[in-house]
Amino acid sequence: MSNRATTLSRRAALALPALLLARPAAALILPERVSQGSLVTGRADPGTRVTFEGRNLRVSPDGLFVFGLKRDAEPQATLTITAPNGHREERRITVTPREWDIQRLEGLPGRMVTPDAEALARIRAEQERLNAARRTNTATPHFAEGLEWPTRGRISGVYGSQRILNGQPRAPHLGLDVAVPTGTPLAAAATGRVTLAGDLYFTGNTLLIEHGHGVTTLYAHMSRLDVREGEAVSRGQVIGASGATGRVTGPHLHLALFWLATPVDPRPLLP
Ligand SMILES: [Zn+2]
Repeated sequence: MSNRATTLSRRAALALPALLLARPAAALILPERVSQGSLVTGRADPGTRVTFEGRNLRVSPDGLFVFGLKRDAEPQATLTITAPNGHREERRITVTPREWDIQRLEGLPGRMVTPDAEALARIRAEQERLNAARRTNTATPHFAEGLEWPTRGRISGVYGSQRILNGQPRAPHLGLDVAVPTGTPLAAAATGRVTLAGDLYFTGNTLLIEHGHGVTTLYAHMSRLDVREGEAVSRGQVIGASGATGRVTGPHLHLALFWLATPVDPRPLLP
């Protein structure tokens, strides 16, 4: 399809002399319209350079690339495309706004809503670890196969909700909650490598797995971790079990999806 697009624009340029001044557009497959909080994949001719928000995206040998839009992304996203022949152009994508739920949770321990100084120091150190793990950006695009459910259950929390914890406004919920009993085996949503395995203040026993091009899944509140940092895991492999560790009102899996540091909605990638 990309070759055909190139051929067509070259043919058009030959047929209409006025268009000779306009160089052929880079062949690019990209959705024209996406939603806030989306993971967006595109395809370009091999050797194309693609930049989003000043960052060079990894483009696989067959032209696949990916980037993520924030929950509060502006109505338009701009990509800069540089073809192998050096021709550069900008592509704009319309970003559809979404409506976010409001989620109120009561009965959380006070230290989980307003951590003390000691806890804040721990949270900051953990944030550094999380950021380092999410910077991982490897070559094989395992994410392109889509995700599979780590476990099935009632969806008790969705991406993007505005959160009011014990009556106090807090950061939005940037993952998907699946209510399952403690001890339920959890499977890796896609093939990849474990970039973080540890016990964190808010998310309890937590695993991060990178699936190529900086796309990472996060599994939180687990009762048990069966894999270690650096370990390769395959899609569907049991990586541990669900639980109620960290900031929770009951046992569930919190599943999050990131493009580098940007949290995106995992739901559209799940069956
Ligand atoms: Zn959650």
